[in-house]
Amino acid sequence: MKSDLHCHSTASDGMLTPRELVDLAHKNEIELLALTDHDTLAGIPDFTTACQSHGIEALAGIELSTRWNGIGIHIVGLKVDPDAAAMESAVTFQTDARQERAEKIASRLEKQGFTNVLEGATALADPGGSLGRPHFARFLVESGQIDSQARAFSRFLGAGKIGDVKCGWPEMEQVVEWITQAGGVAILAHPDKYSMSRLKLRRLLQDFCAVGGQAVEVVSGQQNRDVTAFMARMANEHELYASAGSDFHGPVSNWHNLGSYSPLPGDVIPVETLWSENNVSRELFL
Ligand code: MN
Ligand code: MN
Ligand code: MN
Repeated sequence: MKSDLHCHSTASDGMLTPRELVDLAHKNEIELLALTDHDTLAGIPDFTTACQSHGIEALAGIELSTRWNGIGIHIVGLKVDPDAAAMESAVTFQTDARQERAEKIASRLEKQGFTNVLEGATALADPGGSLGRPHFARFLVESGQIDSQARAFSRFLGAGKIGDVKCGWPEMEQVVEWITQAGGVAILAHPDKYSMSRLKLRRLLQDFCAVGGQAVEVVSGQQNRDVTAFMARMANEHELYASAGSDFHGPVSNWHNLGSYSPLPGDVIPVETLWSENNVSRELFL
């Protein structure tokens, strides 16, 4: 069954609306799709309706930001109940954290002489969606205050620049708890993207398991075979289910397409096993 368990819509920082995303999934012959926008479930209702009209199995998902030992880590909550109280708590917490950060970014940019920054960037974000640095960059360009988004990032918003404000993200334990309480599966997203040493990654996986994490993205997009083999080993070593997805944000190249990612190796247990009819237990790992 062709699936994609990690992608974004305009409800966060994706380029396609949930409907456009699902139309693309249909075109790409995807049968099982999870929408995993950053810190919001705002896209889920349209996503679910669109999936139904195409006969695609829809999974409600969310990608929650957290911090672990000072490193920003992303945890995907898959198959969550969007109406669960725990999801409301999660989204509220993350929205507040982002809002506080947005206000800080805006006031710092205004000190540099830019005007109307918070209102302008907010107007570009989806209502109920999340407001991030790309919205600030777009606003500065569209309001004629800077000539390109690349320049906005290289001078003001990129890593280490004044607009690079850290968010007060919740602890990993809290994030996993929200996901679990909402009936979902907590998945450590794209472990290869944190530029961690293998030792540090093992520690992260141990901590993630200790707080109730159940799966890891063994495959995220197109990745090197050695990385896939290593992540598969990490999954099995820590008795974690394996997930795979494109982390699609928009049709920027053929390389980054919805449903397009390196194959999941045969020696891992796919996360779908958790809710498939032949429900198996962790004994499979023995
Ligand atoms: Mn993103
Ligand atoms: Mn991510
Ligand atoms: Mn993502």
